[in-house]
Amino acid sequence: NKITIAIDGFSSTGKSTVAKQLAKHLGYVYVDTGAMYRAVTFYAMENALINDNRFNVKGLVSQLPNIEISFKFSEVAGYAEVYLNGVNVEKKIRTLEVSGFVSKVAAISEVRQKLVDQQQEMGKSKGVVMDGRDIGTVVFPKADLKLFMIASAETRAKRRYDELTNRGDDIKYEDVLKNVQERDYLDSNREDSPLVKAKDAIEIDNSNMTPTEQFDKILSLVNM
Ligand code: C5P
Repeated sequence: NKITIAIDGFSSTGKSTVAKQLAKHLGYVYVDTGAMYRAVTFYAMENALINDNRFNVKGLVSQLPNIEISFKFSEVAGYAEVYLNGVNVEKKIRTLEVSGFVSKVAAISEVRQKLVDQQQEMGKSKGVVMDGRDIGTVVFPKADLKLFMIASAETRAKRRYDELTNRGDDIKYEDVLKNVQERDYLDSNREDSPLVKAKDAIEIDNSNMTPTEQFDKILSLVNM
């Protein structure tokens, strides 16, 4: 019997790594909801709605009907990559620039409503692993298994820093840490859906776990 798995937590807690592994192992669909908020942010940047810290919220809200986000499985990557109006933006949405604005875009209720509706539609059939901030609380309050991932801000910043420098980005650790802390703050203080742990979610602190240890632990929860 296929189930719905909701994985929530702060940025860079390793949600997407384990969600991808699980989806592959179980033959489930993986949905990266953070990528959807990032794609909307990328659209706003490309269309001059975000310029040197000036943010045209009204303009973005009025253009929401022109923003179409979709996922397509990539054989090379081994998971579904995100597309913005038909264009693959999987790599372009991971920059520190997008990360610096995404929590502000995600705080707009019209944006959340559009994306949550789409997420609920995508998860209608079981056999889905979805990761984000509000999956177990708002998107799928009745998910069969809810996980809440935690790790210290420094551990998370170090992981993200390694990831970005490995792909060639020229960045400073301090800037990554600052971004992680800013997003933690904005994500936990949002008005309509602040990042909180669902009552029935299982908390996993992976600060001192290897990816394999983490995967085994979570798989044992799936099989319970
Ligand atoms: O998961 P990721 O770090 O890529 O998410 C980027 C941002 O998108 C988060 O910092 C948060 O502001 C927003 N987000 C959200 N709700 C989700 C997923 C992501 O508000 N379900």
